Amino acid sequence: MSATIIDGKAIAAEIRRQVAEGVKELIASGGPTPGLATVLVGENPASETYVRMKRKACAELGIESFGHEMPAGAGQQEVEALVAQLNADQRVHGILVQLPLPAGLDEEAVLKSISIEKDVDGFHPINIGRLAQKGREPLFVPCTPAGCIVLLKESGAQLSGSRAVVVGRSNIVGMPAALLLVKENATVTICHSRTKDLPGTCRQADILIAAIGQPEMIRGDWIKPGAYVIDVGVNRVDDPGSDKGYKLVGDVAFEEAKEVAGAITPVPGGVGPMTIAGLLRNTLRAAQLASL
Ligand code: NDP
Repeated sequence: MSATIIDGKAIAAEIRRQVAEGVKELIASGGPTPGLATVLVGENPASETYVRMKRKACAELGIESFGHEMPAGAGQQEVEALVAQLNADQRVHGILVQLPLPAGLDEEAVLKSISIEKDVDGFHPINIGRLAQKGREPLFVPCTPAGCIVLLKESGAQLSGSRAVVVGRSNIVGMPAALLLVKENATVTICHSRTKDLPGTCRQADILIAAIGQPEMIRGDWIKPGAYVIDVGVNRVDDPGSDKGYKLVGDVAFEEAKEVAGAITPVPGGVGPMTIAGLLRNTLRAAQLASL
C-alpha cells in the first residue's frame, strides 16, 4: 500500500496565513510591526538565496525585514558589534545570523551575543540548553526541527510512547529534532556516521527522521511498515534530462519508501517550506512578547 504523502507546502501555507493574520491583529491592537534583521557574512550563494527567500516571505506577510551584509573578512568584533546594535534596535524583534559563518569566526560566540528574546532561529546556547532540560522551555525552537514535529502531528502521528529514530546529530537539525521528540515523550535513538547496523535500527522506528545529507541513503527495506518518515535532506543529483541538469532528492529513497511507510514527506515540498514558516511564526511571537 502506498503511503500518505505529507504536504509540507500546504501545511506551511496555512501557518503563513495564520502569521499574516497575527501580524494584522498585533498592529491593529497598537502593537509594533514585527521586524526581522538578517545578517549575512561572506558570499556563500546558497546562504544568499536563503536570506533572499526569508526576506521575501517577510514582505509577503507584513513583517519588516532589515538586511545586513558583511564581507567574508569581517572580524569577530565587527559581527558581534552589529548584533549588539540589532539587540538595541526596537524595530528589530528577531535576529537571524545566516549559518554557516565563514571560517575563522566563532559561531557559538556570535549566536550567544544575540539577545535570547530575539533568537528567532532558536540557536542561542540558552535556548538549546533549555530544550535539553526536563521541565524547562526554550523561548524559541530551531525552525527546521520544529517543522518536523508539526508535520508529524498534522499527519496524525502518535508521538507519545512511540519509538523514534533520528539519523543525524547536527546542532541545526538532528540533535534538536531528537530533543523535541523526547519532549513529546517519544523514546529516541540518535544515529550518526559511527552507528552500527543503521538499517536494523531504522527498521525499529515508528517515527523516522532523516537529516544526513546523503542522497537516498535510507532504502525502502530500512523502513518499518506503516512508519512516519520525515526526510529533511536536500541533495542535488545530476539529472541530464532536466533543464537545470540536476534535481533535488532527499536522504530517503522516496519511491521505495513510499511503498512501505504509512506517511512520508516528499523532497522538495516536505520539510523545506516549514523552515521559513517557522521563522516567520517565531518573529511574530518575538514581536508579540516585546509588546506585552
Ligand atoms: P550535517 O552535515 O551537519 O550533519 C549530518 C549528520 O548526518 C551528522 O550527524 C553525520 O554524522 C550524519 N551522517 C553523515 N553521513 C552518515 C552516514 N553515512 N551514516 C549515518 N549518519 C551519517 O548536516 P545538517 O544536519 O545540517 O543537514 C542534513 C540534511 O538536511 C542536508 O541534506 C541539508 O541540506 C538538509 N537541511 C534541510 C533543511 C530544510 O529546511 N529542509 C534545513 C537544514 C538542513 P556525524 O555526526 O557522525 O558526522
